[in-house]
Amino acid sequence: MNSFSAKNRAGNSERLRNTYFDLVIVGGGITGAGIALDATSRGLSVALIEMQDFAAGTSGRSTKLIHGGLRYLKQGEFRLVAEVGKEREIIHSIAPHLTRPEKMLLPIVKGGSLGRFSARLGMTLYEWLAGVKKSERHQVLSQADALRAEPLLNKETLLGGILFYEYRTDDARLTIEVMKEAAERGACCLNYMKASGFLYTTDSSGKKEKIAGVQAIDQSTGESFEIKGRCVVNAGGPWVDELDNLDRKNKLQRLHITKGVHLVMDEKKLPVKQAVYFDTPDKRMIFVIPRNQKIYIGTTDTSYKGDLINPQLNTADKKYLVDCVNRFFQTSKLSEADIESSWVGLRPLIHKAGKGPSEISRKDELFISDTGLITIAGGKLTGYRKMAERVVNRVSEKIKSVENKPISECVTGDIKLSGGKINDNQPFSEYIKIKVVEAVAMGIPADAAERAIRQYGSNATELFKYMVQLNQQEQHELPLALRAQLMYGIEQEMCLTPSDFFIRRTGQLYFDIETVRKWKTPLVMYMQHILGFSDDTRERYMHDLECTLKSCSGKGA
Ligand SMILES: Cc1cc2nc3c(=O)[nH]c(=O)nc-3n(C[C@H](O)[C@H](O)[C@H](O)COP(=O)(O)OP(=O)(O)OC[C@H]3O[C@@H](n4cnc5c(N)ncnc54)[C@H](O)[C@@H]3O)c2cc1C
Repeated sequence: MNSFSAKNRAGNSERLRNTYFDLVIVGGGITGAGIALDATSRGLSVALIEMQDFAAGTSGRSTKLIHGGLRYLKQGEFRLVAEVGKEREIIHSIAPHLTRPEKMLLPIVKGGSLGRFSARLGMTLYEWLAGVKKSERHQVLSQADALRAEPLLNKETLLGGILFYEYRTDDARLTIEVMKEAAERGACCLNYMKASGFLYTTDSSGKKEKIAGVQAIDQSTGESFEIKGRCVVNAGGPWVDELDNLDRKNKLQRLHITKGVHLVMDEKKLPVKQAVYFDTPDKRMIFVIPRNQKIYIGTTDTSYKGDLINPQLNTADKKYLVDCVNRFFQTSKLSEADIESSWVGLRPLIHKAGKGPSEISRKDELFISDTGLITIAGGKLTGYRKMAERVVNRVSEKIKSVENKPISECVTGDIKLSGGKINDNQPFSEYIKIKVVEAVAMGIPADAAERAIRQYGSNATELFKYMVQLNQQEQHELPLALRAQLMYGIEQEMCLTPSDFFIRRTGQLYFDIETVRKWKTPLVMYMQHILGFSDDTRERYMHDLECTLKSCSGKGA
């Protein structure tokens, strides 16, 4: 059985309790996933536990861009911009199915904070720092060209524009593909497994000395057990302080958490031809990004102190984003009633006294406690691989200091992620064409095949097998493609609940909410049939999904 199957929880949990690991990671967002892959590929034995679903924290709630963070130049963050800027191309090469080049238009407007000269200068510096390849360098547009690129811009205030490239991604799927690659290479990763405390070695008087593992609770059974390891990493994102404080007597606050909201609407409400990145009167930057017949708008950046698991969209968030867009686009008449879906993410930023939310650095930092707990905080989705490299370098030093184990340098820049096993010389568009022909020969409709390849990359062949197999079985009211996705999600992506499926395995709750409404009941019944959970569990899952549907469609606030 695939080690990343939701049907193999018992096997994985057995392995967690019976192995002594080199490294135990707490947190299954992009940071934890990146560390798991880096450490496993250097020959370390790795366990990773996540208390919710993988990517259910910030890593499934970002702006979904692999980007260089142009705006951080204003804050003098040259190292950060250079690092994440260079990472863009690497991530594109190891996960071509998850990184789509996206042209962004930065309009230059009368009274805006960016002048033609400063924008050009900033862009040139950015491209130099980030080593942007020639074919993806920026273009300066006249007013007429900017209007041609995006006719919805306000002609009266428009002076010109800059066209530049970033990459659009699916953040939750990226996290899951990194995690799957780590699992394929031997890491033992399990979702719905919470760290409730740490284990320590003790001296002769029983006083705790060095960290030696975690106490874990299986969220699906309530069972508690120990996971032992030589090193422990806290990759808890917004929960970093909570975890760190389980390890120390004197409580610390390292994080300043800020909330970022994105709204999804039908593209007909604001039919932009392409992504636009504009500045606001309060000196923030807002994206409007088209995606699958929808647009999404984001983001806010406000200090946050509430519930970390379910941060909610409120009236002020909705009003702020809708007003910003209506002010900037002359013809836009968006209203809060147009919101179809939304998501709310929490930025785990490193606390700096006296700085406002948008001024705080997005860089990452490593902290090592007296007991040896390694905590990684801050950072960007785009910079996950380099963050992981820094953490695993520390882990390697620690392991080498106590045992003579050869540990290689970081190799993740050359490791294609799960789903990304596509020849470097073959453009993804060519790959799609070839695979569609193969799928059609198997009796799969071309459009379904293409959708699967765009979403799952080289793993789409697995989806095709499920489609063929399920098609030979009894007819079912759920469409074949959805059933195949669900079976793949359960058996190969540890999908345990309907929300895991609709939010983080397929993204449908954000970008195709009608499909969720239409199929949620038969899907939950089908999941119960496959996974064999009780009627009470089914009711609870259904209730959770209904609550999420209500809150993300803006009807909860
Ligand atoms: C609104 C917004 C937009 C953003 N946009 C972008 C963007 O476009 N591009 C970009 O590069 N970056 C972006 N970022 C930043 C990026 O999303 C984050 O830096 C990144 O996702 C953080 O990942 P993480 O793994 O550290 O945290 P998380 O994804 O939150 O992962 C931490 C995990 O730890 C788990 N955990 C906590 N406590 C425990 C415990 N006791 N036991 C087990 N598990 C536990 C949590 O459940 C959680 O899943 C954005 C952030 C926000 C908020």
